[in-house]
Amino acid sequence: MQEADIGLIGLGVMGENLALNIADNGYTVAVYNRTAGKVDAFLDNAGPLRGNVMGSGELAAFVGMLKRPRSVIIMVQAGDPVDAVIAQLRPLLAEGDVIIDAGNANYHDTVRRFSELDGTGIGFLGIGVSGGEEGARHGPSIMVGGSEAQWKNAEAVLTAIAAKFNGESCCAYLGTGGAGHFVKTIHNGIEYADMQMIAEIYGVMRDGLGMTPDACAKVFADWNKGPLDSYLIEITGHVLAAMDEKTGQPLVDVIVDAAGQKGTGRWSAIEALNLGVSATTIEGAVAARSISAIKAERERGEALYGAGMKGKATISLEALEKALLAGKIAAYAQGFAVMAKASEEHGWNLPLDTIAKIWRAGCIIRSRFLDQISKAFEAGSSDNLLTQPSFVSMMTESNGALRAVVATCAVNELPAPCLSSALAYFDAYRQGRGTTNLTQGQRDFFGAHGFRRIGEEGDFHHSWPSLV
Ligand code: NAP
Repeated sequence: MQEADIGLIGLGVMGENLALNIADNGYTVAVYNRTAGKVDAFLDNAGPLRGNVMGSGELAAFVGMLKRPRSVIIMVQAGDPVDAVIAQLRPLLAEGDVIIDAGNANYHDTVRRFSELDGTGIGFLGIGVSGGEEGARHGPSIMVGGSEAQWKNAEAVLTAIAAKFNGESCCAYLGTGGAGHFVKTIHNGIEYADMQMIAEIYGVMRDGLGMTPDACAKVFADWNKGPLDSYLIEITGHVLAAMDEKTGQPLVDVIVDAAGQKGTGRWSAIEALNLGVSATTIEGAVAARSISAIKAERERGEALYGAGMKGKATISLEALEKALLAGKIAAYAQGFAVMAKASEEHGWNLPLDTIAKIWRAGCIIRSRFLDQISKAFEAGSSDNLLTQPSFVSMMTESNGALRAVVATCAVNELPAPCLSSALAYFDAYRQGRGTTNLTQGQRDFFGAHGFRRIGEEGDFHHSWPSLV
């Protein structure tokens, strides 16, 4: 009987499409799902790929279908389900086999799973997969973490199924342990910031300039031909242009303005805070989702204070485009700074240029801009993007527009948490003499925490007056 090159557990949205993608690339894939009926349905619907897929609703039978050493991708809901599947799989696997967790794991869980499997002879890879349903089916961006030896076993399949940018695979080995899932987490944090800043610009168009969704759609379609050219700008144009069949109104006008969050965006802000890296634009995006979720409270707030001044803003579309570019530079600078710091802390040696490269296609934040980032980091520098020469000129050219847009939002009472935090980050980043000298004085006053003096080594205390 023919044996499968690789196994996949979890026929949800991502797993089903990833399995078809593997089969499409000429590999034989065996599938298993907790709800067995999904396996039969998957095999029945495989169409022309039926020859490359097999499966079973029984776990031992599924494992028996795999070529040795066995590679098993787990694509189930992140968290406890992954541990449950690993626990069921372990007794069925043998030395040399590799489990590959492809879900959105918290990288701390990935690190724990590595140590739990350590010494069992069963290998583990934690891979971040981005690109949603379409990416999983036709080529996602894949961020790999684990041991290089185990990566070698899975490299051929993962490289083949990943998206391609100018013929280069958007799959790469990034480092040991939780490196792959950490990078995916930061990817999602940047994605949150990218989306939120686009939404804020739409807010200025809608509430500040009184533009219709259709007029906004045309602007985004136009911007997609310029420096903002990206998947998110492209789909924004489509979302704004879509009409609701039920009401005949623009679809965006009937969608409730409240979002949940699954975890990865929030984790990226938490990791930035843990590492002591300023990532205020990513944090702003997470906070914006949180405030979006309290819609009833916001409606009470509007009744108490009134909402922004509708249709009163005066700002050019050109300024909005440039402001979005400047905000994007700040958000990506923060995300890459978080990864650079994590790399240092964990000894991952994360290749920042490669990370930008594998995000150029397949994933949600894919864009022309990422090609520029990969070039900026090509020489191996992990310095903040704001100091990379090509970005210095872009930011010099565009930060004035960001300032004008943030000022317009402030004057017209329009919320722009991400754009304003991007501007504040940029202004703080370029202020050689900040104001924390005062904070240090306060800390020494109430807690004798000490301070450093300009031009002198060592810690100093002042003899403060007693206020009691
Ligand atoms: P999904 O459609 O909700 O499917 C969940 C899968 O997990 C199903 O196959 C389900 O099996 C299985 N499952 C849940 N609990 C289980 C348990 N305790 N034991 C065994 N199997 C269990 O999920 P998805 O959207 O494909 O997401 C899968 C992973 O990919 C998640 O980590 C997600 O965060 C990540 N991801 C998703 C996207 C996206 O756009 N959807 C993008 C990137 C990454 P049953 O059929 O038996 O319920």
